[in-house]
Formats: sequence, structure tokens, C-alpha cells
Amino acid sequence: MNTDDFAEWSARAAQWGADYRASLRDRAVRPRVAPGQTYRSIPAAPPERAEDMEQIFADFEGIIAPGMTHWQHPRFFAYFPANAAPVSVVAEYLVSAMAAQCMLWQTSPAATELETRMMQWLRDAIGLPDSFEGVIQDSASSATLAAVLVMRERALGWAGNSAGLRAGPQLRIYCSAEVHSSIDRAIWISGIGADNLVKIPSTGPRHSMDAAALDAAIRADIAAGHRPAGVIGCTGGTSIGGCDDLGAVIAVARAHDLYTHVDAAWAGSAMICPEFRSLWAGVEGADSVVFNPHKWLGAQFDCSAHFLRNPDDLVRTLAIQPEFLKTHGADGIINYSEWSVPLGRRFRALKLWFLLRAHGLEGLRDMIRNHVRWSVDLCEKLRATEGIEILTEPMLSLFTFRPAGADDTATLALVEAINNDGRIYLTQTRVGDALAIRFQAGQFDMQEQDAQVAYDVICELAGVAPVAR
Ligand SMILES: *Cc1c(COP(=O)(O)O)cnc(C)c1O
Repeated sequence: MNTDDFAEWSARAAQWGADYRASLRDRAVRPRVAPGQTYRSIPAAPPERAEDMEQIFADFEGIIAPGMTHWQHPRFFAYFPANAAPVSVVAEYLVSAMAAQCMLWQTSPAATELETRMMQWLRDAIGLPDSFEGVIQDSASSATLAAVLVMRERALGWAGNSAGLRAGPQLRIYCSAEVHSSIDRAIWISGIGADNLVKIPSTGPRHSMDAAALDAAIRADIAAGHRPAGVIGCTGGTSIGGCDDLGAVIAVARAHDLYTHVDAAWAGSAMICPEFRSLWAGVEGADSVVFNPHKWLGAQFDCSAHFLRNPDDLVRTLAIQPEFLKTHGADGIINYSEWSVPLGRRFRALKLWFLLRAHGLEGLRDMIRNHVRWSVDLCEKLRATEGIEILTEPMLSLFTFRPAGADDTATLALVEAINNDGRIYLTQTRVGDALAIRFQAGQFDMQEQDAQVAYDVICELAGVAPVAR
């Protein structure tokens, strides 16, 4: 591809992207493709000779696009959002064009220094004290793994990386039953082992970890000869939005000198609105906090903001510093690869800079407040609808419901009917023993009319009469 072709196809791709975004409300959110359909459309072997770009692009439009789930669809109410505001897509295009590796300061000084600034902007925007420093990780899973590795090293007197786990007592890590599977995986990968992840029951309207039970579990483990290493708190659990009482949990952890990490992957974005910060009151006491601007805030995946009270613990755990990576004599510079598990790093700060400037914090706060309000309104309408029952109350913009008294089969049938219909997209979860349908509002371009469509579709496919508007 020569320079002219590159310019032409970049422009074609940009036009396609703009048309695509503009057409989303006319598309089914989840594609209507059968398993294997796309696979069978792709030849078994790569071409020996160069193919024409027109044909490649036509196949993209004809084979790939129809098989995509439209995460940027304004009526995407499944999982959590993975918003990519158009302005962040523009920044990602520039990043792709430069394609720099940003592992060391000297391998991209501007990327490193913009990252430092953006993490300060975000830290202040979500109300964390300025004693925290930040790094952009590829995912919350990576941030949590890094935090668990710090817990391990700290508990082993910084000898685990060299000596391994064989010699010491069993390390123990604590969290609630509401945490995301990335916590379980961090425990596996760190070698601590799932048997040593102690899940404390959650209680109360916010489904929070029972702090007294946490304290009792830690004491029992110490008495049994185990070594507690850390506590993972949760703000906005994936299933129903559970939020720990971080003040209480961190106080218990501190009393036992344990490292604390808070997973706020989804809900953290809402903390740009001061009125929601009570959900994570006490967070300022944590050692490590992660949230994903690539979920609700609008920074294209991947962009996970990881804040640390003392980055030295993390660098002590993860820095390798072989000779060829050393940047001799340049004091005061940050090499962010020492703050994360992967070495190579994309330039992720640019899309945050574009996003925060193009929308302003007020613009982003308006979006999040609207999502919460529309979700709460929808929940109230469903509650008032005969034949629907609310199973869990809104946590920010997430609540669950099902057909009143339905068994799991009937609930799942409704989810499937809704998703095959295509006007909206929802997913299910388990609440206690019951299957529940999750609704979360969070897509960047969602409008109030989209919540109305959700209500109409749910009523129509559940066969219940909508309440009068
Ligand atoms: C989405 C989510 C994660 C995982 O985030 P990744 O960035 O995909 O690793 C972890 N915890 C919670 C609460 C989440 O919502």
C-alpha cells in the first residue's frame, strides 16, 4: 500500500465508520448469524498473491460487519458498556498511525508524560486524594493481577519472585462473593490458589462484604498458621452492582497490616459525579484502585486507570530492568512498563486527552446522570407493570428483573426472545437461586427514547400490558 492508497483507504474507513455509527439504531443489536457461518465464509488458506483492496473491503462489509454484535448501539443494555466515543476513535486512529511502543520514557516521551497528566486529571475527576499516582493498564484484570502480585510479594517479605511459594505458609486473600471472575483468575495466576481466596458473605441493600465476618476470617486464618496477604474490595459488582463498605473493610485490613485493592471497573466512571461517591466512601484508604474509562466513560478499549498510593510497592514487584531496557542517568523519569505485567504498551493516554477535552467533565457527568435516571425510571415502570417483578434494586444504572414468579426456563426464554428480536440486547445473571434479567443503561449515544423502546420490547415479548405513560 503506497502513500496515496493509504490516504484513500484511511478516508474510506473513516467514512464507513461514520455511516456505521449513524445507522446503528436500524440494526439488530445482536447479529442474526448461525455458529460457523463466518468461519465457513473465510478460505482455509491465505492468498499467495496480493489481493485487491476493493475486494478486501467488500468482504469486510459483506462477511464481517453482519456478524458483529454492535457494542456502540444505543440500545445495548447487556453486560456493561464498552463505550468508544467518536472522539476517542479519532485519537486511536492517530495512535495506530504512529504505532509507538510506550514501555519506557525514552521510547515515547510525550506518551509517558501525557499519561502522567491524564492520570492526575482522572484522579482529581473521581475525587481520589492527590497522594495517589496512576498508570493506564490494558484491563482491570491486569491491574488486579498486579495488585495481587504486590500482596504476594509484600506478604513474603519481597522474596516470592525469587523463591516461589513453596517454602512459606499459605497466603490468604479476602473478598466478597460479589467480585468479578478476574479476581479468581488473579489468584490462580499468582500461584496463591483458589483455595486461598476467602469469599466473605455479602449482606444488606448494597450486597456488601460483612466486615465483622472478614475480621473473624482473618483471625481464624492466623490462628491456623496461614498468612493473610490482602483484601480486595468491590464497588459495583458485575452481577448486580454490589458495593462493599470500603471504610469498614479497609479499617479491618489495616488493623491486620494487609494490602488493599478496590475493583471499581464499571462503577468508577460514575465517581466523576460527586453525588455517587458515597458508594465508595473510604476508598481514599485503599492501596490500589482500578476503574475502566473504557467502560462507561467513553475511552475506547483498552484503557484501565490504576491508582496507587505507593507505586514503589508495585515497581518493586514488577520491574525487571535487564541491561537493554535501562535508561541510564535520566533521573525523575517514569518507565510505565515497570508498573504493569506486559512489557509492550500502547499509547493509551491520547484518547483520554481527546475525550476529556471534547466533552468536558460536565458533558460526561450529564451522560452518566441521564443513564442513572433513565434506568431508575425504567425500573419503576417495570415494577408498576403487572406480570414483572424487580429482583434487585438499581445500583447506579443496573437492576435486575424477571417475569413475576417465573422459573429459570421461562426467564431464559424471555431473554432469548428479546435478544433474537434484536431491538435491544440484555443478559442474564443469578440472584441467589433465581435466574434474573440484567438491565444496565450506559451506552454513550443512548437517549431517553431508547429506554422507552426497552420498556415496550420487554412488555411485548413478556406478553404483559404496559402501564399508561
Ligand atoms: C468488567 C469488569 C472487570 C474486568 O475488566 P477488564 O478490563 O475486561 O479486565 C473486572 N471487574 C469488574 C467489576 C468489571 O465490571
